[in-house]
Amino acid sequence: MEEFESTAVVNQTIMTRENLLEVIAMQESYTICTRCVMDTTAEEISFDQEGVCSFCHYFDTTVKSTLERAKTKEGRRLLEEIVRKIKESGKNKPYDSILGISGGTDSSYLAHLAVSLGLRPLAVHVDTGWNTPESEANIHKLVEKLGLDLEIFVVDWEEMKDLQLAFYKASVKNCEIPQDHAFLAVLYKKAAEKGVNYILTGGNLATESILPRSWGFNAADSRHLLAVHKLFGTKPLKNFPILTFWSRYLYYPFIKGIKEVRLLNLVSYDKKEAKRILAEKYGWKDYGLKHYESVLTRFFQGYYLPTKFGIDKRRAHFSSLILSGQMKREEALEELKKAPYPDSELLKQDKAIIAQKLGLTLFEWEAILALPPRDHSEFPSSEFLYKTKDLLVQKLGIRKRWHNLR
Ligand SMILES: [Zn+2]
Repeated sequence: MEEFESTAVVNQTIMTRENLLEVIAMQESYTICTRCVMDTTAEEISFDQEGVCSFCHYFDTTVKSTLERAKTKEGRRLLEEIVRKIKESGKNKPYDSILGISGGTDSSYLAHLAVSLGLRPLAVHVDTGWNTPESEANIHKLVEKLGLDLEIFVVDWEEMKDLQLAFYKASVKNCEIPQDHAFLAVLYKKAAEKGVNYILTGGNLATESILPRSWGFNAADSRHLLAVHKLFGTKPLKNFPILTFWSRYLYYPFIKGIKEVRLLNLVSYDKKEAKRILAEKYGWKDYGLKHYESVLTRFFQGYYLPTKFGIDKRRAHFSSLILSGQMKREEALEELKKAPYPDSELLKQDKAIIAQKLGLTLFEWEAILALPPRDHSEFPSSEFLYKTKDLLVQKLGIRKRWHNLR
């Protein structure tokens, strides 16, 4: 119960009678895993007799072996093999890979790792208009010291704004879809443009293996993105980078020979150690929690999700770290007692900045934030296609091969 009170659910600012009844009902059936810190705020969670949750079981059966492999000879062999392939594909080309960089720990460490493995990536950053000065400084320090070329793709601001506002007006869980989608689409675009076969991303199982499906929606789903925009947007999207299902899984891999590689899954990746190396070698600065490199993301994860949906993403992040042995459960519980926003003054400030940037008065912005929550399933999507793809990958037994790279 003590732990429940620490969650953001009780931080509801817009507390209607329905909300209140819901919160009471949740309190009565509230359970938290005895091994990680996932709890019943993830609706798909279930527990075994010892109170260990289904996410922990998923980790044990699906993720653990990949993490352990990274420490073995077999793991090193796999890493060498993929590095050799990337180098070979880049012969006589200015770059052998495209590396997506946000300035956060994972992608920054990935840049360090790629160069130390002898790779020659082109660093690509997608500027969606919300970067903090700290994240920009991190990117520039890093590429300069690593001697990497950097290309910054600046997303058309008017379109970005319209699209982001459309998601907030739709009042769904994942309002980060526009940012995440643009990031992925640009990496593919750049790879094709430069004739490069490999895309390196910072996605990894050591720090982000746990993420409940019920907490969000697939950002890669372009049909969903366009459907929400059609309903709530106000101007046509002419320049916004779009990646369709078919281009990601057919055109780019089979016609262009482009693959995504998650190098961090092939090494033993420790977040604290990565931060230490980055700070020491590059003067890189930590700005606190995961994905707080953007003002809007900070607001989304620290305010929007907790107050509107009772979701505290730190839970999933800390649970991933606990399961990979990088954080103690007690430490995570202590952290979760703190409010999800770094401080209330910053929250006020961010809220006002965001309203202004989106071209709204604070009152209009508050009104949008107070709209009743809606589910992503209320809007068209390609969920069926993605599910079929996942099933096929599993049935064809290529999951293992897939995991090596992804
Ligand atoms: Zn658990």
